[in-house]
Parts: sequence; C-alpha cells; structure tokens
Amino acid sequence: MDKQELYQQMILSHNKKPKNYGKLENYNFIADGFNPLCGDHYRLYLSVNENIIEEISFEGEGCAISKASASMMTEAVKGKKIDEIETIFNDFHLLITGKLNPETDEHKLGKLSVFSGVCKYPSRIKCAILSWHTMKKAVNTPKEKFNEEDFIKTED
Ligand code: ZN
Repeated sequence: MDKQELYQQMILSHNKKPKNYGKLENYNFIADGFNPLCGDHYRLYLSVNENIIEEISFEGEGCAISKASASMMTEAVKGKKIDEIETIFNDFHLLITGKLNPETDEHKLGKLSVFSGVCKYPSRIKCAILSWHTMKKAVNTPKEKFNEEDFIKTED
C-alpha cells in the first residue's frame, strides 16, 4: 500500500468510526472550534489532571479530513502531558504545511504522519489543523470560564 492509499484509508475509517466521539461525562476543560471556509465545527471535552490529558472527546460535524484529524488528534494526545502535546502540535503544523518530511526529519507524529499529503492542498490545511488549535484553546479554558461566543477560528 502506498502513502496515498494509506492516507485515504485512514481518513475513511476515522470518518466512518471516529474515536473518542461524543460528550465526555466528567470534563473540566472545553473549547469550540470553527473553520468558516469549510463549515467544520467541533467541540472538545477534556479531563485534565496534574497537567495530563486523561480523557478527551469531541462532538461536531465537518468534512472527512477535519473529522478524521480530530479523531486521530484525540488518540494522539490522550494520556499525554500538556508540554509533550506542544511538541506534537508543532510537528503536525510543520508536516501539513510541507516544512517537515516524516521520512527524513525527526518527529513525534507516529500515525499522524499520514497527513503529509495535505500540504499539497492548501485549502485543506485549515480542516486538518482545526481540532489541534481547538485542543490548545481547550487546555487553557476551564469549564467555569467557557463562553460559547469565544471560539477558535482557523486562520492559518
Ligand atoms: Zn473541512
């Protein structure tokens, strides 16, 4: 199976059966994200304890890339420390903007490296990064401070 086929298969399977989909029972952090160019909109629920994302889930709708990316993002960050996530986020951003080659550059992307092809489609970069920006906002937004008017809009 080549890279393109692997990518398509991952997108299809995560889109059909997203991981960690639905509202989290006991969450303490939350954020909304919206990509106006495509209409993708998601809400993330996190249970954070001592700087570790113990549980994470998402709700919402959007295109196949945004949903598969959200699903794989939740798998990638679950159980990780917040400062580790910063590294993965940065690697992912470099990957989808074509500045990191997963075959030759060092990275912490794991399965997320299938998204390398997104850099060829600039309009899809926002779809792929939406849930990541939303997650970064969520770790700074305790439930008590959540305001529905204040959501992440993907700009780059
Ligand atoms: Zn989209």
